[in-house]
Amino acid sequence: MTQAPTTVVFDLAIIGGGVAGLWLANRAKSAGYSVAVFESGDLGGGQTLASQGMIHGGMKYTLAGALTGASEAIADMPRHWRECLCGEGDVDLHHTRILSDHFFMWSGDDLGSKLTSFLASKITRGRVEPVHPDRRPPLLRHPLFNGSLYRLEDLVIDAHSLVANLAHNIEGHCFKLDWSRTELHQDADGQLFLEIKNPDQDLQIRAQRFIFTAGKGNAGLLAKIGKCQPAMQLRPLQQVMVKHHHPFDFYGHCLGTDTTPRLTISSHRLPDGSHVWYLGGNLAEKGATMAADELIALAEHELRNLIPWINLQGSAWATLSIERAEPLQPGLARPDNAFAERVAGANLMVGWPTKLTLVPNLANQMLEFLREDEIHPSTIKPDYPMLHSYLPYAVTGKTPWEIAFPPKMSAEEALALRFKESDENDA
Ligand SMILES: Cc1cc2nc3c(=O)[nH]c(=O)nc-3n(C[C@H](O)[C@H](O)[C@H](O)COP(=O)(O)OP(=O)(O)OC[C@H]3O[C@@H](n4cnc5c(N)ncnc54)[C@H](O)[C@@H]3O)c2cc1C
Repeated sequence: MTQAPTTVVFDLAIIGGGVAGLWLANRAKSAGYSVAVFESGDLGGGQTLASQGMIHGGMKYTLAGALTGASEAIADMPRHWRECLCGEGDVDLHHTRILSDHFFMWSGDDLGSKLTSFLASKITRGRVEPVHPDRRPPLLRHPLFNGSLYRLEDLVIDAHSLVANLAHNIEGHCFKLDWSRTELHQDADGQLFLEIKNPDQDLQIRAQRFIFTAGKGNAGLLAKIGKCQPAMQLRPLQQVMVKHHHPFDFYGHCLGTDTTPRLTISSHRLPDGSHVWYLGGNLAEKGATMAADELIALAEHELRNLIPWINLQGSAWATLSIERAEPLQPGLARPDNAFAERVAGANLMVGWPTKLTLVPNLANQMLEFLREDEIHPSTIKPDYPMLHSYLPYAVTGKTPWEIAFPPKMSAEEALALRFKESDENDA
């Protein structure tokens, strides 16, 4: 005879362990809510670890030569992140690596008089400064460089250490969900619950609120309970990765004639210390439908054009196809702000941060909904060890460059080999 399912009840059950779910779980736990994150893959393994890590203050959205809704919506975000990175904000990020405390905007050609006067105007003061030739980054310190160069006071963070940091802060609260033995239901009162099949005894997970932060998985989760709102849009990209032999880290946008960057470069390290440039921007948008070989040829052509003094011989190349998941916008436009919505008739909220940068804003919106709906932390605490007897903990995923260029040996093996070599030399 099968036993009645056992039930575990949380204040918040968050489905999707990217930066949005993890950040919200951090905030909610600090506010006293009992919270669990349910992830079907690896933590951060969707868009988050594939991101370029740029925490931008909006200047990227001013390339038409004026402030826009998007530029103003995120103007304050770098300050918010900086406080968290110092351990003084609403989420403790002091284990997150800062890759750069600024990034560059450069143009090989004339920027156009409208954008040039805009960047020189009072409105942008303190957010963007022209770079004196003596202060150029090493990649652009070459006699052949004769473009315009600006420095933006924005941040670049290492997304892998961010995910690991957020997960560490809520250790024991992130679980791996296997949908082949899990069902999502909605009862007659509109209350969602998860049912996990188990040979001995099934488990029901209930919560005051379910929250979907599953990126492109949100639409599928909504479909499981017969809903199609809020609607989602996907913007496909194909990023390019170059493993090269230069010691130059660089973070910046190269401007072209469009109002979005022609090329965005961020720099990352493999566990063995080798250097990877990760290329996005228009290249990745236009490249979304190209064959990988064709896009790599285009990327190589772009780099040879823009930084011809750099020798790319012996570089290794790879691409990553990925989609940005966002709330549906008229004309598939880019949304300006983080998006959070309550779903009518259900104990459910759904969100897309739309940008890594805007994740703090998404969490604020969600916590405000909880306050308005009088969802308070309950005094009964759920049995986390019991839940773990049903579900393994979710682990942090790998970066796209680690997957594309797998190290010949792990960092631990490389270290062990180094010790062995020095022991042999001493003998
Ligand atoms: C190539 C690229 C570069 C970017 N660069 C930047 C940048 O420089 N700066 C910036 O501000 N933003 C950037 N972004 C945007 C930013 O990465 C995303 O807005 C952000 O990471 C979204 O976070 P998320 O947690 O909502 O989604 P995701 O990171 O996609 O996380 C969703 C999680 O949910 C899980 N999931 C999915 N379905 C289910 C399910 N049914 N059950 C359980 N779990 C599920 C997934 O496995 C995943 O781990 C970039 C995006 C891309 C794609």
